[in-house]
Amino acid sequence: MNPHFNFELKATHNHARVGVFHTPHGDIHTPIFAPVGTQATVKSVTPAQLEELGASLVLANTYHLYLRPGDARIASLGGLHRFMQWPHPILTDSGGYQVFSLADNRKIDEEGVTFKSHIDGSFHRLTPESSIAIQENLGADIIMAFDECAPPYDRAYNERAMARTHAWAERCVKAHQRSDQALFGIVQGGIFPDLRQQSAEFIAALNLPGNAIGGLSVGETKAEMHAMLEVVDGVLPKEKPRYLMGVGAPEDLVNGVLRGVDIFDCVLPTRLARHHAAITRSGRINLANAIHQDDPRPIMESCTCYTCQRFSRAYLRHLILAKEMLAATLLTIHNLQTLLMLMKEIRQSIMDGTLDTFTAQFFARQE
Ligand SMILES: [Zn+2]
Repeated sequence: MNPHFNFELKATHNHARVGVFHTPHGDIHTPIFAPVGTQATVKSVTPAQLEELGASLVLANTYHLYLRPGDARIASLGGLHRFMQWPHPILTDSGGYQVFSLADNRKIDEEGVTFKSHIDGSFHRLTPESSIAIQENLGADIIMAFDECAPPYDRAYNERAMARTHAWAERCVKAHQRSDQALFGIVQGGIFPDLRQQSAEFIAALNLPGNAIGGLSVGETKAEMHAMLEVVDGVLPKEKPRYLMGVGAPEDLVNGVLRGVDIFDCVLPTRLARHHAAITRSGRINLANAIHQDDPRPIMESCTCYTCQRFSRAYLRHLILAKEMLAATLLTIHNLQTLLMLMKEIRQSIMDGTLDTFTAQFFARQE
């Protein structure tokens, strides 16, 4: 067992769990939502604002930081925690997902992936070993195995991608040196229950400090995502954290928790904020709409965030129309608060044994 990482399960309610994942940079109280800081910054907010919101875990992207400013440079400047001034837990992805979704001219072989940078067109190669080496340079607390995410409905492709993901996971385990980082394996398998079962069994057998579920929320239906989570929930060890990658809509967070997920991340709250949308418990509000121009109310009367405590919808709409940067900051604060508070209330309701009432009320308010 790695002495730097320990997952303590505090309470369960059916498949939902409350726990604490101890890391070298602090405790992560699960279930948790992790804001995404793609370029070593959660867009439009400062680390101080993130702390005030109660964020604990932040995600950064290996692909982006490898290309710019370079992982060796970040290492020589003291590592990612110091570089971005986030002294709390950080998770980095493997770079695989961005290579497959952003890079041009990518060529996959059994050894790794060759691709063209989306920034300057230069050629690069990522392998399981180099992904781990980059993530060791960055120095996040939780790092991810290099995997291949296939389109969800293509059975033959998913079989190949899953086999590759498994072989690459083994190579990542061999390559990984730093004991102050927890390496998570990633379950793939598209929307195919037998592949998901097989993948979860393989990844669980690697006996890593935590396990991730990839390749969901990539175009499949909600029902299919839920079915895959249920398959994986039945296989992955209960005593280790489970991380559902790239999922962050409020209803998906609740549905994930109900199916045994502990950690979530998504660009949704920060991306929506830059597109003038506020997340609420009952849906989204577009603050650019004219309907808000004389509205003195906050986004949400019940919200305790800095934005809702001070600013009107009319002011937010004015900032948006005037193209002021503060609009993105204020909406990001509200959107992150909404997801972080939702997770806090979920944790409390699992502890109190009132999760059924909480989820019934939550789903009744969905539009
Ligand atoms: Zn608010």
